[in-house]
Amino acid sequence: MPNHDLLLVGAGHSHLGVLRRWARGQRPPGRLALLTDSAHAWYAGRLPGLLAGRYQEADSRIELAPLCRAAGVELLLGEVTGLDANERRLTLADGRTLQASWLSLNVGAAPATPEQRSGGMQVLAIKPFAAFLATWGEWQRDPQPLAIVGGGAAGVEVALALAEQVPELSLFCAGSLLEGGSPGLRLRALGHLRQRGVIGREHCPVSHVDGQTLYSDAGSVWEGPRLLLTSGSQPLPWLIHSGMACADDGFIQVGSTLQSHSHPRIFASGDCASLADAPRNAWQATRQATRLAANLVAVLQERPLLRYRPSRQRVLLLATGDGGALLDWNGWSAGGRLCGWWRDLRDRQFIMRHQG
Ligand SMILES: Cc1cc2nc3c(=O)[nH]c(=O)nc-3n(C[C@H](O)[C@H](O)[C@H](O)COP(=O)(O)OP(=O)(O)OC[C@H]3O[C@@H](n4cnc5c(N)ncnc54)[C@H](O)[C@@H]3O)c2cc1C
Repeated sequence: MPNHDLLLVGAGHSHLGVLRRWARGQRPPGRLALLTDSAHAWYAGRLPGLLAGRYQEADSRIELAPLCRAAGVELLLGEVTGLDANERRLTLADGRTLQASWLSLNVGAAPATPEQRSGGMQVLAIKPFAAFLATWGEWQRDPQPLAIVGGGAAGVEVALALAEQVPELSLFCAGSLLEGGSPGLRLRALGHLRQRGVIGREHCPVSHVDGQTLYSDAGSVWEGPRLLLTSGSQPLPWLIHSGMACADDGFIQVGSTLQSHSHPRIFASGDCASLADAPRNAWQATRQATRLAANLVAVLQERPLLRYRPSRQRVLLLATGDGGALLDWNGWSAGGRLCGWWRDLRDRQFIMRHQG
């Protein structure tokens, strides 16, 4: 017997948007709950500013209890460690199990981890944020040379935020820096990294770690004590073993209604889903919220579902750690304090919109 009619799993960008819409009065009838591993949702956009000392922790996260209360959704705290997709049954780290008639997954992704052949190097992943911040706080008491693996938006923003806090910083990218962005954005970002003394290494995929050395297929590329992973993304292990159809990249294959191809009673959105023509980023996850909210109401009320159409056009604003930002829009780039003001306004509005 299912515990809930609908269980939202993970407080990612799409589910925050769903809760916000339901708090405004669009909540469907039924037993609805949000299950997530923390009492607040960290907002990745604020992390670089938090690391650079420009924001406090309280400015960088959304408290879930007031939002859930306003939406009429029960808040359940627990870490999911297993999912049986056929039964729609979740297993939690503390041994509890939960079952629902409908599931919606918005649990994000984990950074890709290079193989570690022997100990010696301290390795830290940017997610989950709470664990990252706790360890980073300890590392800051004894600053050491640092390598960051991952030259996407997260890697660049974090490198610029940390450049002045460590004695030496290198940033490794498998391909070009900020792949998918405009050439102008890449050049501006490279300029900022150079200015802050960050050594940028493009087309240098890190394959493994041995002792205190990082290796690519061509040989050793860096020696040092600490490694931070912000690279690409990989699916959470329990999703891989859930029995759901996954795309070649390992993420849950969904169709335009955001339902799993193999298990239509399970929805997936944001970074954990693989949808044709939809790149994985915060902009896409946030946009999916409108359709997801409508479709979750539709299935509970047995009405027809709407299709989500991915948009390739997005405004990318990358924080440069000094109060400025880089803008990338439609192949066009700019940078400076005005962009930083816009970025800050956008982040502040996102957080305020989701405060119940
Ligand atoms: C530093 C940084 C900067 C970034 N900058 C940008 C940017 O400028 N532009 C951009 O588009 N993207 C950016 N990104 C990427 C962006 O943050 C992600 O694409 C976005 O957060 C994806 O959101 P999501 O909705 O899929 O899930 P997430 O926001 O990752 O949320 C996942 C949720 O699931 C919960 N969860 C996870 N595992 C479990 C579990 N086992 N059990 C229960 N709950 C669980 C988490 O606590 C969280 O609430 C950045 C990322 C980082 C790290």
